[in-house]
Amino acid sequence: MTVTIDQSAGFCWGVVRTIDIAEEQMRESPELYSLGPVIHNPMEIERLRARGLETVTHGDFERLTGKTVLIRAHGEPPSTYALARKHGITLIDATCPVVTKVQERIRKFYDQGYQIVIFGKKDHAEVVGLVGHVNNEAVVVRSVEEAAAVDPSRKTVLFSQTTMDKATFYAIADVLRGRIRDFVVGTFEESAIDFHAKDTICGQVSGRDKKLREFARQNDVMVFVAGRNSSNGKVLYEICAEENPRTHFIEEESELRPEWFAGAGTVGISGATSTPQWLMERVRAAIEAL
Ligand code: SF4
Repeated sequence: MTVTIDQSAGFCWGVVRTIDIAEEQMRESPELYSLGPVIHNPMEIERLRARGLETVTHGDFERLTGKTVLIRAHGEPPSTYALARKHGITLIDATCPVVTKVQERIRKFYDQGYQIVIFGKKDHAEVVGLVGHVNNEAVVVRSVEEAAAVDPSRKTVLFSQTTMDKATFYAIADVLRGRIRDFVVGTFEESAIDFHAKDTICGQVSGRDKKLREFARQNDVMVFVAGRNSSNGKVLYEICAEENPRTHFIEEESELRPEWFAGAGTVGISGATSTPQWLMERVRAAIEAL
């Protein structure tokens, strides 16, 4: 049985950058706090925790006066920066530059009086951050059905959480186009027309679709490794499962089942943008040992 790790899997550069920033800071001073889990992967969180990175919430700010807190790649709303100032906390801002760009754009449209619609998950940290940048006045939609309820009387712009799937984004854009005057589907680049849809899905996610589909087809069995709360992990896993019905989702190697590999000549391992390379290598070793 040949076991291969997907060449295009592993951390996206935004996550690599965040972890580099955290590790560099911990080399200077090991006491560092991450506001929320630094990455959607419990194994990597544990590795960083062993080096001194403690995960905290906004509720912990009161006891962190004088300490240093890392803002992870998802970004935060302006209220977090204000809260940190109030409690005398130093922030290290590791917001992914792609997310920063979306925050700036969304704010620009909001200032021009647009109704802001975001395709995303209401409770996802990135979306909470985006909504905070427009005074909590955005409408967040998860589906085409929810998009049908958007107020059609206002000039509107549609953005996306960076890790959502493109097909649904464009389906939502179509629904809104049918209901709102002067609808334009843009790209990540600026366009200045009355109704906009900004495809702000990160290329690190959408660019992987094609390669992952090919990889999933090339293997008899696929093992997809990701944290269960990774949004991008879910999207990529579904792509994988569409191409290869013998795809299994795991968070760590202890979940592997020998019966999955019965009669398989080739096994492929892939992961989300938050799945560390070392974890996929451990999964490969565990499959080979079965
Ligand atoms: S998936 Fe894209 S937007 Fe999200 S952290 Fe990675 S590079 Fe940044």
